[in-house]
Amino acid sequence: MGIFYRFIEFYKPHKRLFFFDLICATMVAVVDLSFPQLLYYATHTLFVGGNDTIITGCIYIAIIMVVLYAVRYACQHYITTWGHIMGARMESEMRRLLFKKYQALSFSYYDKNNTGVMMSKLVSDLFDISELAHHGPENVFLAILEIVGAFILMGMINVQLSAVLFIIMLLMLSFGIMQNRKMKNIFLDNRKKIAGVNSSLQDSLAGIRVVKSFANEAIEHAKFKVSNDEFLESKTASYMAMGSFVAGGGIFVGLSYMSVLAIGGYLIAHNLLKPTDLAVFALYIGIFLNPINMLVNFTEQFQKGYTGFCRFVEIMDTPILIKDKENAIDIGNVKGKITYENVSFAYEDEQKVLKNISFNVDAGKTIALVGPSGGGKTTICSLLPRFYDVTDGNIYIDDKNIKDVTLASLRDSIGIVQQDVYMFNGTIKSNIAYGRPDASDEDIITAAKQANIHDFIISLPDGYDSLVGERGTRLSGGQKQRLSIARVFLKNPRILILDEATSALDNESERFIQQSLDMLAKDRTTIVVAHRLSTIQNADEILVIRHNQITERGSHAELMENNGLYARYYRMQFHK
Ligand code: ADP
Ligand code: MG
Repeated sequence: MGIFYRFIEFYKPHKRLFFFDLICATMVAVVDLSFPQLLYYATHTLFVGGNDTIITGCIYIAIIMVVLYAVRYACQHYITTWGHIMGARMESEMRRLLFKKYQALSFSYYDKNNTGVMMSKLVSDLFDISELAHHGPENVFLAILEIVGAFILMGMINVQLSAVLFIIMLLMLSFGIMQNRKMKNIFLDNRKKIAGVNSSLQDSLAGIRVVKSFANEAIEHAKFKVSNDEFLESKTASYMAMGSFVAGGGIFVGLSYMSVLAIGGYLIAHNLLKPTDLAVFALYIGIFLNPINMLVNFTEQFQKGYTGFCRFVEIMDTPILIKDKENAIDIGNVKGKITYENVSFAYEDEQKVLKNISFNVDAGKTIALVGPSGGGKTTICSLLPRFYDVTDGNIYIDDKNIKDVTLASLRDSIGIVQQDVYMFNGTIKSNIAYGRPDASDEDIITAAKQANIHDFIISLPDGYDSLVGERGTRLSGGQKQRLSIARVFLKNPRILILDEATSALDNESERFIQQSLDMLAKDRTTIVVAHRLSTIQNADEILVIRHNQITERGSHAELMENNGLYARYYRMQFHK
């Protein structure tokens, strides 16, 4: 029932449209029901009068018919046009909400969920919901009106015949409901399988460069074929179920006509029914059974829409783990002092990735993290902008607990340069401006100059308006990295995180970029992760992170004197 109310909510902004939709559905039902009624009137009243009455009466009835059908046409037109538009509007609203939710979900959700599946929910699930949203109420309403209306009018003609039809209708409905149960699981399976197709497609397209470099097209094709075949299988199962469903409905129609004719004949023979009444009654059978068929067919649409909506609700209800707490404050003007106090962290339940990390960086100073891969350096960095929340301990910026300030203001004060750089589809200018969307052209150029990329940009035919290609494929690694540095210059945060920013680059690009990074770090509090130790010798403090803990700490000179892991690393890199 909860789900039902959630669904109704989406009709609220379209109350008026929805109301007219139902009025139009009523009109259609009235017209459909009036046709046999007019015939009934003609056979019972007109035909007992003289020829003149018959002629004028028939002309009147014909005129009424034309008017009624004109009204029916207009109403049907309204239902089809505006009903669908209403459905599309609801779909669009749900898509917007879902997108917003996707944006809000924390990193931990993305760690566990497949983006292909998420896309599939955004597109195909929602379309089914929209179809249901439109056709649902109106079809059900129209069907019920016609069934009840026809049943009453038939009862006025003959009670026995109506009772027989009623029993057949009950049989037909229970058949429908039975089949319905079967279909529900099949449609859920359909959804999952199409999401599988989407996810496999998305994965291999996103990784197309890796695929080709390993010449693994055939393997990818084979993998795709598996999910594609599974989808076909699932679809086949649904059409099999639908076949017996729809054909089964036909049997009941035949059964109805047969019983009415047989019993009607008996009644006529015994003078309990007029032949004209039987004819009019037979006309009602169609009107009576059509909507039942419609209801039965509607169950398919209902199942699809319902499963889609359940999936929608499931995501909408996923808790957002990291969000502003109530009365979170703006972090205000940040000086840049950072304190980690006994910080422990686990991505999954028990497995601690960080244990008791404590350190302090004064405003404007630099701390360096070094150590073997997998030690937890990146994780330490991710906790500061609250990509994940600490499991134990606290983190402070300027002595304010980062959990007490708004996420937006916290993240505004931190700039991150990582090893992998993401470029959005668009121009160089828009990619730099991502750091501060309201920046002027002048600011963007200044940032590009600071990042040592301005000269390259203006050497391109389209300059700042050059397209970077999807994910920046038209740029070299070093160029992308410099653009990402320009972004951070533009953002101008007080705190800087450099997580292996130059690791993916060749020596020459590295040296070039190191200059910009040094300039970027100037006067900002900086956490730098580097495996090339040359870049961090001047850090105010160096932490060696190994096996999830700080194992050594001090300045370069102190650590060298200490003669531990750091000193060994250093000698390995410089005095082989
Ligand atoms: P480093 O940056 O020092 O190489 P990381 O902080 O990336 O190390 O990783 C520390 C540990 O946390 C590793 O064992 C890694 O497998 C694990 N880890 C990293 N990211 C995730 C994640 N998103 N989900 C689960 N475990 C993770
Ligand atoms: Mg790392």
